[in-house]
Amino acid sequence: MSFHVRRKDREITDLTEMRQVFLNTKYVTVALCMHEEPYLVSLSHGYDQAKNCLYFHCAPEGKKLVILQVNNKVWGQAVLDFGVTEECDYAYTSVHFQGKMSLITDLTEKQHAIEVLVRQVSLNPEDKLAKIKPEKLEKTTMGKIEITYMSGKKHQSSKSKS
Ligand SMILES: Cc1cc2nc3c(=O)[nH]c(=O)nc-3n(C[C@H](O)[C@H](O)[C@H](O)COP(=O)(O)OP(=O)(O)OC[C@H]3O[C@@H](n4cnc5c(N)ncnc54)[C@H](O)[C@@H]3O)c2cc1C
Repeated sequence: MSFHVRRKDREITDLTEMRQVFLNTKYVTVALCMHEEPYLVSLSHGYDQAKNCLYFHCAPEGKKLVILQVNNKVWGQAVLDFGVTEECDYAYTSVHFQGKMSLITDLTEKQHAIEVLVRQVSLNPEDKLAKIKPEKLEKTTMGKIEITYMSGKKHQSSKSKS
């Protein structure tokens, strides 16, 4: 079955506009599923526009990594939240996405991932990156979500912030 944004007046079709949500929001919320049981985590991320991919850091073990071994398909949401408008509407721009989650084992890819992540989430990224040595990075758990589908929707009145 195929679904789409029902309110065409609120649908975002411009990929650049959708990518701006990934670049400007602080975290994404990602749904996983194992044995017909849903699960959900929020992840601070770095978005790589060229690869259309989200990078994240996590602990080396835990429920999401167990699920990942069984089912790497995820559904997620990224939101820019503008709050309640003067008209008592709720203003937001959001992107839903489907993707494949995996852990990164290659050190060169890990280096790229940490650079994308730290540059997006940190105020002084170069100072932080300079402190991350290859030996430390090797022991660091990094993951990625390769995005295979995304849809966008916005609900903003003319008076709300853009
Ligand atoms: C804004 C935000 C940003 C985050 N960024 C990251 C990130 O970049 N990387 C990352 O790994 N995690 C991040 N987290 C935490 C993340 O959402 C998960 O809670 C965490 O990754 C633990 O996942 P796990 O599957 O390994 O759980 P486990 O540690 O295995 O937890 C097992 C059980 O503990 C409970 N539990 C776990 N986490 C929570 C929680 N946060 N609140 C309530 N109950 C919980 C659940 O019942 C879960 O089934 C973030 C959370 C928030 C709110």
